[in-house]
Amino acid sequence: MFYIGCHLSVSGGYEAMGKTALSIGANTFQYFTRNPRGRGFKRPDNDDVAALNDLISKNGFAPPLAHAPYTFNPASADERIWNYSRDSMREDIEVLEDIPGALYNFHPGCHVGIGAEAGIENTARLLSEVITPGQNARVLIETMAGKGSEVGGRFEELRAIIDRVELTEHIGVCLDTCHIWDAGYDIAGDLDGVLSEFDRVIGLKRLCAVHLNNSLNPCGSHKDRHAKLLDGCIPPEALVRVTRHPALAELPFILETPNDDAGYAQEIAWLRAAQK
Ligand code: FE
Ligand code: FE
Ligand code: ZN
Repeated sequence: MFYIGCHLSVSGGYEAMGKTALSIGANTFQYFTRNPRGRGFKRPDNDDVAALNDLISKNGFAPPLAHAPYTFNPASADERIWNYSRDSMREDIEVLEDIPGALYNFHPGCHVGIGAEAGIENTARLLSEVITPGQNARVLIETMAGKGSEVGGRFEELRAIIDRVELTEHIGVCLDTCHIWDAGYDIAGDLDGVLSEFDRVIGLKRLCAVHLNNSLNPCGSHKDRHAKLLDGCIPPEALVRVTRHPALAELPFILETPNDDAGYAQEIAWLRAAQK
């Protein structure tokens, strides 16, 4: 099955996201667990979540991907920010108990001057405190562009985080095509090489989701500016090859391209046509 979806707004509720996904030809989706740039948190309505679960099972969706807000910084040396990130992540994962097979994606954070090693240590300690043995959601560390002091621009850094956590059966990775391209992994020229590097360093069995984005900038630019699939520095055929690669079959692909719903519907239709 080819699972394709995009980032949707949670503001209209959970079931509403499922309906929007259906209306644009998606069979999975992503959403922010809370205001991406603010601090408010509202627990979702139980009936609304149950209605979404029903829609998901009736329509054969892949479980949704919940994305942590940008206000988290698990790598931070600032105790106030780190504690806020930890407590909020706990809350988010708690909510996901009610969504079977849910995935929870987060950015490993920025070390802001303390160095990558110390940042990795902080992120790993946060995961160790947050992850519990019987939890439902799998927590995915996202591959980053390596912009500024971002942790996670190299596969080795993700591996170093995972190596420091105990309950690693609950940890996976989400690969963002814009980010790894910007980080210097040439998925256009050598997709097989990049994926075998991923396999060697992290292990493909940890890969649970793909953010499918084009990039406004050339490979290795460390910028992180997403582009529409047909409209960036990565040749669109190379992005199609990502969706068709046997090592990535059955993974959910999530568009985070700058689009409205109509634009997403077009990209999804284009990708579906390219699968045949
Ligand atoms: Fe992200
Ligand atoms: Fe992403
Ligand atoms: Zn990004």
